[in-house]
Amino acid sequence: MWAILRKYVCYLRFGLMELIKTGGYMRIGFIGLGHMGSPMTKNIIKSGFDTVVFDLNEKAVSELVALGASAAATPKELAQQVDVVITMLPGPAQVREVIAGPGGVLEGMKKGSTWIDMSTSSPGLGRELAPKIAAMGVGQLDAPVSGMAKGAISGTLQIFVGGDEALYKQMLPVLEAMGDPARIFRIGPVGAGHTVKLILNLLWFEHAIAAAEAFVMGSLAGIDIDVLQKALVASPANSNFIEHDINSVFVGDYDESFAMRLVCKDLGLAVDMGRDLGVPVEMAALTEQVHRRAMRQYGENGGEMLAVKLYEDLMGIQLRAER
Ligand code: NAD
Repeated sequence: MWAILRKYVCYLRFGLMELIKTGGYMRIGFIGLGHMGSPMTKNIIKSGFDTVVFDLNEKAVSELVALGASAAATPKELAQQVDVVITMLPGPAQVREVIAGPGGVLEGMKKGSTWIDMSTSSPGLGRELAPKIAAMGVGQLDAPVSGMAKGAISGTLQIFVGGDEALYKQMLPVLEAMGDPARIFRIGPVGAGHTVKLILNLLWFEHAIAAAEAFVMGSLAGIDIDVLQKALVASPANSNFIEHDINSVFVGDYDESFAMRLVCKDLGLAVDMGRDLGVPVEMAALTEQVHRRAMRQYGENGGEMLAVKLYEDLMGIQLRAER
């Protein structure tokens, strides 16, 4: 009864045209129910899609089942039941295992179904799997996200899509259930979404350590943190990190919803990309090493902004301000 009602709400929400374009109502399978995947799945359920979930973490699965999802025993079993498989896994190793490993998604996917990888992963892996996936008559998109766990909770993620344009348009109702419609972009062919995501994460973490040096120096030079931030925001040296994200450091929150092990994975992939393209990426390599030092110091599950704390601890200060 509940499922029929949800389906009806979904029809109303996306309208007849969408249903004609998508060829009917889509059943979604979601694999990877962590800090990001769990709230993203909740938003998919809220939008009215029938949802099947899989994760190694049984607690994460039961939480979603309590909200109306069904649980699958394996990625293959999940793929057999759905029209769209979404993966939101730690990185390329887990994506490869879940998609192409024994009992994996590719053993269960039906012709005409679609795989969307929303993990931050390697552009090369998607391209490597593409010929096999195309030969099965399965569609493929990479659609990594930014916007942190709070964006996943509020359904306002930014989404960067690689893959066929017609398929992208067909999948928009699903992507819009998780992201801000004004900030969902098709970037180019398969792999292009992952490429842009690695570049933007690299820049953000470069900004983080540049801001750490600047604020620690300013603070030790006796400049009030609020005044320094206002001056920098008004200057040509402003960045989104300086204007917004560093505020969480000022209240002692280094954002544990994005673990340092994932930060280092992303930075490693960005450096690999530079190497593959033959581009010298000295800043990227240095940024990776600073974050690896922070991971060693504070642990792999420590928050994504702990590189700032490295500088605070080294100089024996804390950057704090009321927010
Ligand atoms: P997480 O570690 O919180 O969650 C990963 C989930 O995948 C866990 O529930 C884990 O049990 C599951 N998993 C791991 N291996 C599995 C397997 N073989 N089969 C099934 N399930 C498996 O990670 P997260 O923070 O949710 O990040 C997920 C992805 O999103 C990563 O690629 C990350 O880089 C990216 N990302 C994270 C953030 C963030 O703020 N946390 C923001 C943007 C992008």
